Amino acid sequence: MHDCDRISAKLSKFRPSLTLELKRLANERLRQNRPVYDFGLGETKGELADRIREAGERAYREGHTMYGDPAGLPELRRAVLEWLNQTEHYDPENVVISTGAKQSLFNIFLAVCNPADTVLFDAAPWVSYQPLAISAYSSPIMVLPRAGPANHLKVSPEDLRRNLRMRPHAKLFLLNNPVNPTGQLYSGEEVEGLLQVCLESRIFFVLDRLYWKLIFDGEEYPEPRIDEETKPWLIQVDGLSKNFRRTGGLRVGWSVAPTDVTRAMVNLQSHYTAGPAVPTQHSALAAVTGGYDPELKGDLQRKRDLLLQESRNLHYVEVWPTPASFYSFWDVRAAFGRRTPDGQVLQTSDDVAEYLVRAAGVVTLSGQAFLQEGYLRVSFATPDEQIVRGLRAAAEALDRLE
Ligand code: PLP
Repeated sequence: MHDCDRISAKLSKFRPSLTLELKRLANERLRQNRPVYDFGLGETKGELADRIREAGERAYREGHTMYGDPAGLPELRRAVLEWLNQTEHYDPENVVISTGAKQSLFNIFLAVCNPADTVLFDAAPWVSYQPLAISAYSSPIMVLPRAGPANHLKVSPEDLRRNLRMRPHAKLFLLNNPVNPTGQLYSGEEVEGLLQVCLESRIFFVLDRLYWKLIFDGEEYPEPRIDEETKPWLIQVDGLSKNFRRTGGLRVGWSVAPTDVTRAMVNLQSHYTAGPAVPTQHSALAAVTGGYDPELKGDLQRKRDLLLQESRNLHYVEVWPTPASFYSFWDVRAAFGRRTPDGQVLQTSDDVAEYLVRAAGVVTLSGQAFLQEGYLRVSFATPDEQIVRGLRAAAEALDRLE
C-alpha cells in the first residue's frame, strides 16, 4: 500500500473546516485580552428548558438505559407527527429517530442512492450536505439560479428543470427551508413549484426543515403539500437542535418518509448507531410535547432587528433581509480589491472573514464554506451587547479599508 492510499479516496477529498483558522485567530486575541465577537455559532444560547432536562434525568433514574427500538421510541415517533401536525397523513411507522438531523440526512442518502447517483442541492448548501452525499457514494451537484443572487440565491422550478435535463441519474433534490446559511424562506408557492418538478421527474423531494419554528414577522411555515401524489416522493428532515435553546448536543433528529424508505433506513440504522441514546429521546419527547414556547422566536426576531439597525453603517456590505432562522447573510463583494491598513488586497470571502477577525475580533463564517464566494454568514444567536459592539468594531475595521 502506498502512503497516499491509507485514507480512502472519498474522505481525502474533504476540506478541513474553514472555520478552524478563524477560531485560532480569535483565541490568539482572547489570550492577548483583546475582545472577540463570535457571530460564527450555529446554535442558540440560553438555558435548557427544565422539562427537557428533567425528562432526561428521570430516564436515567428510572433505568431507561437499555437498547431501544432502532427506529426510536414509539411514543416519540408518534409525538413527532403531532409536533409537525401530520398525524392525518402519516403513521409512526413513517418516522425514524436518529442521532441528529445529520444522521437522518445520511440515512436518506444511503437508503435511496446507488453509487454515482446525482443528488441536487440548492444554491448555498449547508456545509455537511456535500461530505455526507460523497460518503454515500453519490455525486452532489448544486442547482445554480439563473437569476444569480438577485432572488437571494433561491432556486426556481425552471432552474431545477434545467439541471434535471442534464442529469438523468438524479435521485433527489434537497431543499433546506428556511435556508442555512442565507436566512431565506421559500414561499408555499415556491416550495410547491419545486415539489411539482420532482414529481414530474420521479425523484425524491427532501425537505430539511430544521429551522421551521423560527419564522419571523408573523408568517407561518410554508408546509409542503402532503397527499397521495406527493407522499411517495416526499421526505422530511427535522430535529431538536435549532428550535429550542441549548439542545444541539442532545443529538436527536428525525425523518418522515414513505414506508419503503423508512424501512430501509431503520434496517441500516439498526446496524450502525441503533438510534440516539434513549435518555435523550425522553428529553426530545418532553421538548416536542406540551406546547411550543415562542419566546425563542421572539428573542431572535428582536436580535435580527438590532443587527439590521446596527449594520446600517457598514461600508462594502449589503445585508440581506432575514425572514427566518438566525443567520444574516452579507454580500461583501464590494470589499474585494480594497486594501487593508497593512497592505493586503482583499480578494475572497475568506480574506474578508480573516480581516474582520484580525482587525476587529469579529468572527463570521466565510461563504466559501457554503460554496458561495462573496458572502459571509453572520449568526445573531448571540447576546445583544455582542451584536452592538461587534458591529461597531466591524464598521470601524471596514472604514479603514482603502
Ligand atoms: N441541516 C441544517 C440546515 C443544519 O443547519 C444543521 C446543523 O447545523 C443540520 C442539518 C444538522 O443538524 P443536527 O445538529 O441536528 O445534526
